[in-house]
Amino acid sequence: MTQLPTDTIDFSLHQETRLIHEGSIRSQFGETSEALFLTQGHVYANAEEAEARFTGESPGYQYARFSNPTVDMFERRIAAFEGAESARATATGMAAVTAALVGQLKAGDHVVAARALFGSCRYVVEEFLPRFGVPTTLVDGTDLDAWRAAVRPQTKTFFLESPANPTLELVDIAGVAQIARSAGATLVVDNVFASPVWQKPLALGADCVVYSATKHIDGQGRCLGGVVLASEAFIQAHIQTYLRQTGPAMSPFNAWVMLKSLETLPLRVGRQTQTAGAIADALQGHGKLVRLVYPKAGHHPQAALAERQMGGGSTLVAIEVKGGKAAAFRFLNALRIVRISNNLGDAKSLVTHPATTTHQRFTPEQRAEMGVGEGLVRLSVGLEHPDDLIADLTAALDSV
Ligand SMILES: *Cc1c(COP(=O)(O)O)cnc(C)c1O
Repeated sequence: MTQLPTDTIDFSLHQETRLIHEGSIRSQFGETSEALFLTQGHVYANAEEAEARFTGESPGYQYARFSNPTVDMFERRIAAFEGAESARATATGMAAVTAALVGQLKAGDHVVAARALFGSCRYVVEEFLPRFGVPTTLVDGTDLDAWRAAVRPQTKTFFLESPANPTLELVDIAGVAQIARSAGATLVVDNVFASPVWQKPLALGADCVVYSATKHIDGQGRCLGGVVLASEAFIQAHIQTYLRQTGPAMSPFNAWVMLKSLETLPLRVGRQTQTAGAIADALQGHGKLVRLVYPKAGHHPQAALAERQMGGGSTLVAIEVKGGKAAAFRFLNALRIVRISNNLGDAKSLVTHPATTTHQRFTPEQRAEMGVGEGLVRLSVGLEHPDDLIADLTAALDSV
């Protein structure tokens, strides 16, 4: 983020208000809607100005791998919503996860991570980091004693997802943050499943939050993107130079889409969550289900923790169909409105069979350890009318 003047918003205003206005940088044309600055670079009035721009004495932009006005607006707006001092946008969610971890680590350091992770996140901690001399210990994230026991003198950072993909298992973020702090380690939270609307890990003691902006932040299935949020000190120490020099920058076009999407984020996620709750209520106890998991009282073994650390439920529902893979496939194939896709957070309701798609590369033992059974189905609830979705899901389940 640069030091250029932007729409400065009163911090006492509601978050919904700040999401509409925060971070706007108007050009000399005084446009209402934020402009898309589709440019690789910027020209300088003279050589002295170019020099001052590179020393940082003159505010402004140089090159789109470092920063861009549209990307800058996106970063300011999401930082305001998260309650973070600073944000850096990335090309994808995985670029954000990788930056948040690699940016802090060097050979000889050690990482502790919850084992219930999005497949690519688990690859980064379990296979990629050890290749560069950073061993990782995977723990049952729900067990605070397991986090404590995994700490070594070399432990540099903790990493977790809550709710986790696809089981919606929760981790006590404040509890883990405290253990990290007393071990002299940092805590990075992948907050995709809760979305910035329902959970604020920084306020719970985390040092860094990452998002795949591809999911709820875009919210309409168009662009890939990611973002790393933390204190200015954390960004300067660990993220800024890594991103600038290795180059996983967000494209200005994608930043423009994401920036405009932030204006409707609470509306969309609020409605999707309401519908997901109604679906959980409607399907709970259905004869064709082994279980249904949704982070809300009556639907989750950790409902008290959900109540404590989340402002709302989730846009995702996990269900386990009786009869394993064959029954799960019959359910998916019988759906007429809900579409089969491995994505989530879209306006269109989407359904995934993790064991054969997102978690296919794991052994059955590893999947069982993560709670990913053969009958497990992950539902990402969209913006369709709740009655139509409940009718579609119920009819498909009845037909299994
Ligand atoms: C999708 C996802 C990611 C990766 O995001 P991309 O934008 O696809 O790179 C990381 N973590 C979680 C929890 C996700 O759902």
